[in-house]
Amino acid sequence: MDFSPVELSEEDAAFQRELRDFLAEVVTDEVIERDRITGENFDEGVHLALGAAGYLAGDYRTESDGGFSAVRRRIWELEIGRARTPWFHWGTTAMVARLVERFAEPGLREEVLPAVLTGEVRLCLGYTEPEGGSDVATCKTRAVRDGGDWIINGAKMFTSNAHNARFVFLLTNTDPSAPKHRNLTMFLVPLDTAGIEIQGIRTVDGDRTNIVYYSDVRVPDRNRIGEVDGGWAVMREALAAEHGVLERDSAGLSKLATMTEHVLLLGEALDEAAAVVGRRDPGGAAPGQDGAVGYRLGRAAARTEAAMSSSEMCGRVAIAATMREVAPELMDLLGPAALLPAGTAGAAGDGAAEYVFRLAGPTGIYGGTLEVFRNMIAQQLLGLPRPALR
Ligand SMILES: Cc1cc2nc3c(=O)[nH]c(=O)nc-3n(C[C@H](O)[C@H](O)[C@H](O)COP(=O)(O)OP(=O)(O)OC[C@H]3O[C@@H](n4cnc5c(N)ncnc54)[C@H](O)[C@@H]3O)c2cc1C
Repeated sequence: MDFSPVELSEEDAAFQRELRDFLAEVVTDEVIERDRITGENFDEGVHLALGAAGYLAGDYRTESDGGFSAVRRRIWELEIGRARTPWFHWGTTAMVARLVERFAEPGLREEVLPAVLTGEVRLCLGYTEPEGGSDVATCKTRAVRDGGDWIINGAKMFTSNAHNARFVFLLTNTDPSAPKHRNLTMFLVPLDTAGIEIQGIRTVDGDRTNIVYYSDVRVPDRNRIGEVDGGWAVMREALAAEHGVLERDSAGLSKLATMTEHVLLLGEALDEAAAVVGRRDPGGAAPGQDGAVGYRLGRAAARTEAAMSSSEMCGRVAIAATMREVAPELMDLLGPAALLPAGTAGAAGDGAAEYVFRLAGPTGIYGGTLEVFRNMIAQQLLGLPRPALR
């Protein structure tokens, strides 16, 4: 394995400088503050600016199709995270756009794809239902044929970014009498269709997501993605992409796991905590001089490094599990002022550990819970048998 730093060519170094300057201009303090308050993880002005500058197209396309090289993709991922860009939902849009490109009829493809790359069209995921999300194939939202259209009825829980998106990639049940996995059909449903109601929900970490109700929503058959009752074939690809089970580039520069941005926040919280406990009082003493404090901080740092270095599904689990273990440890070391959130006078380390503490719960839920991922690691990576059901 080659751990040496990558030498940037002059062109790649110029790309990095331009990207940094661009992000410094569009991702202002005001944008970051607004995102913190609203929990949207999205800013339309920033998104459109990234589209207009060609960055969305560069990220979406493969290198052979005019997209970023492996080095530039790595620079892009690092810089966009460092700038704290409200950005999280682009991955969803890009993932659904790839499925539209592959499975949709040509007219729909042409309507959606160019506008995805300019940033005007955003796409969101409608899989989870109020009665359960881990086993998405138990979907109850019904789609019934009506001439050349489909009529959809049901409800979807946690449709994140629906209020900023043009379409939802919707999982429906088209044949309740058929065996599981053989009754699902996917649609790309315009979110401004009559009968759709979007209601906001705030999660414990302050994120905004939605519950979306579908009442007699009429969708033309051209908006179907894949075969009727063949939705599981489409979903399987979508879930593999969401779980981070993708082919890796041979240059070794790919992002190690999904949600690596979250573990960087934990790293920053750790740095903040180290700075606070290292601060000396007028008598010259600092809490960090206590061996127990040093031991606990060191152990937290080692765990965080290990999570940062774990890949794919194991990385996904390590990141969320480490956030859940380390954030309370940091808060314990920092004392009562660690309970104050960012932006509050007197907050220890500007509330970094408190925020990671609240973020850690949902991080181990969305895109698949830790328990479900552990099952997948056991069965798919370790080759262990499925548990016997009694
Ligand atoms: C902030 C946030 C954003 C989200 N965004 C979206 C989105 O945009 N679109 C979307 O469709 N969904 C979204 N989700 C939903 C998310 O994917 C689900 O919450 C997740 O898959 C778990 O489903 P559930 O909440 O229904 O829990 P359930 O499936 O009801 O699970 C409940 C508990 O049972 C455990 N469990 C379930 N099955 C097993 C098993 N086989 N083995 C062991 N334990 C098991 C789970 O780990 C969990 O602890 C989001 C969720 C959150 C919190």
